[in-house]
Amino acid sequence: MSRPVAILDSTLRDGAQGEGISSSVGDKLRIVEILDDLGVRYIEAGNPGSNPKDLEFFSQASDLKLKQAALAAFGSTRRRAKAAGDDENVQSLLRAGTPVVVIFGKSWDFHVSRVLKATLEENLDMIRDTVAFFKREGREVVFDAEHFFDGAKANETYAFRALQAAAEGGADCLVLCDTNGGSFPSEVGDLIAKAGRAFALPIGVHCHNDDGMAVANSVMAVEAGASHVQGTLTGIGERCGNASLSAVIPTLQLKRLYACLPDDRLKRLVPACRLVAELSNMPLFPFLPYVGKIAFAHKGGMHIDAVLKDPRTFEHVEPESVGNDRRLLTSEVSGRSTILTKVRGICPEIDKGSHEAGEIVDLLKDMEHKGYQYEGAEASFELLVRRHLGKYKPFFEIERSTIIENQAAGNGSRNSSAILVVNVEGERRISAAEGDGPVNALDRALRGALEAFYPELGRVRLTDYKVRVLNPEEATGAKVRVWIESTDGTDSWTTVGVSTDILEASTRALTDAIEHKLLKTIEKKFKPFM
Ligand SMILES: [Zn+2]
Repeated sequence: MSRPVAILDSTLRDGAQGEGISSSVGDKLRIVEILDDLGVRYIEAGNPGSNPKDLEFFSQASDLKLKQAALAAFGSTRRRAKAAGDDENVQSLLRAGTPVVVIFGKSWDFHVSRVLKATLEENLDMIRDTVAFFKREGREVVFDAEHFFDGAKANETYAFRALQAAAEGGADCLVLCDTNGGSFPSEVGDLIAKAGRAFALPIGVHCHNDDGMAVANSVMAVEAGASHVQGTLTGIGERCGNASLSAVIPTLQLKRLYACLPDDRLKRLVPACRLVAELSNMPLFPFLPYVGKIAFAHKGGMHIDAVLKDPRTFEHVEPESVGNDRRLLTSEVSGRSTILTKVRGICPEIDKGSHEAGEIVDLLKDMEHKGYQYEGAEASFELLVRRHLGKYKPFFEIERSTIIENQAAGNGSRNSSAILVVNVEGERRISAAEGDGPVNALDRALRGALEAFYPELGRVRLTDYKVRVLNPEEATGAKVRVWIESTDGTDSWTTVGVSTDILEASTRALTDAIEHKLLKTIEKKFKPFM
C-alpha cells in the first residue's frame, strides 16, 4: 500500500496574492467545487483577518456540500500584547467557521526581532497560545512555520523551538515553509527528515518557486518523510509563484506511487487546471509539465514517427494518465505518415495509400504555401480536411459584412461597428454590434446573429488573437495570418485565417472557430456522426 500524502491547495489564498489574479465570490465557490472534485484533502480559501471580503466567501462556502476536501482559513498568530481570544485577526479566523485553520508563525529569529519587534520568547508564546486557542475551539490546526528553512540556516535551535511551541499548543501538523523560495532540495530534505525525527506529528512542506525548484523541493520533502504538501494547482502565487501541484501530484503519484488523490482522479487534473485557470483569469502556461497544452505535442518528423511506433520513445508518462492529449503537430516538417495519421483521426475510413489521402497531403502543402499554418490550429485543419472530403455542411453563411470605424465627437475616442447578414439554412438574419476594434465588433455581431439558432455559442469567447504579417516587403499588399484562440470554459481550440485583408483573415479564423464549436456539439449529441 502506498503512503498517503495530504494535499493542501492554496490557489484561493496564496495564489490570490499573485499579480493580476482576482476572482469574484462566485468564481471562488466554483474553484472550491473543482478542487473538491479533483480530490485534494484541504482547500485553503482565504485570509479573513487581512481580507474582510473573505468572510463573506466563507459564510457562503459553509453551504457547499464537499465530498473529499475540508475547507481551511488562514491567519497569523495573535499579536504580541493581546490574549488570543481578544485579537481581532484571531476572531475573524474563528468566525470563518472552517473545520481546519492554518496558523502561520515566525520561525526565523531575524524576522521576530526585525519585523515583529517581539522577543524570541514572546513569539513562542504567541505560537503556542494561538494554536491552543483553536484546539480548544475544536478545530484541526495546521501550523505553517514561516521562513523555516532560512530560519534554520540562521538559528536552527530557534527554528525548531518554534515548531516545538506549536506542538505544545496541540498542532495537528507542522509545515516547514520555504517562504522566500530560495532553498535547495538537499537542504529541504535534510530539515524535513530532522523534523520527522524530532516530532511525532505529520510534517508538511510549503515551497515558493523563486529559484525554480519549488516542485523539486516539495518532491524531495515527501521523499524525506513529509506527508502533507501545500501549493497551488497551477503554480500561481506571489512573485514567482508556489509549488505547482499540477506537477507535484502526478510526479509523486505516477513515479513514486504516493497516494495524493483518490483512485482515478488524476485523469481530472487537466480539466481542473483549465477551469481554475479560466476562473482565475490567468491563462494556463502552455509549457507547464503534465498539464500544458503542448506538454505532449510532437513536431519533428522523426520524433513523430517514433511516437507513432511507440509513445514511450518521447513521452515520460502517458498523457491520458493526467487527462491530457497527445498532439502531433501538422506542418510541412512532419512526414506524410503524420499527416495521414491525423487525417485518419478525423475520417477513419480513409486509406493511407488512397487517392484522397494523397490529395490531402498536396492540399496541405498548397495551403502552407499560401501562408496557412495548421500547427497548433487543429480546429482549422479538421475543417479543411472535412471540407475537402465533402464530410461537412456549413452551419451558416455570411452573405455580407460591413465594418465601420467610429470616431466619437468630443473626446476623440474610437470604436468599431459591424453589420452582418447571415444565412442559416435559408433563414436570413441581420445583426449589428459595436466593439473595441473591428475584430471584436465582428465577433459580437456574428455570435449575436447565430445565438438564436445555436444557444451553445453563448459560452464561447475569444481568449487570444494574434496577427502576423507574412511578406512585409510587399507593404500594403502583404498577407496577414490571424490566429484566434477560443474557449467554452472547458475546451479551447485555435483557428487560423490568411488573407491580404486583415478583416477577411479574421473573419475566416472566426468562422472556423464557431463552426468547430457547432461541429463538436453535434458530434456529442449524435455519436457516431459519420
Ligand atoms: Zn506562501
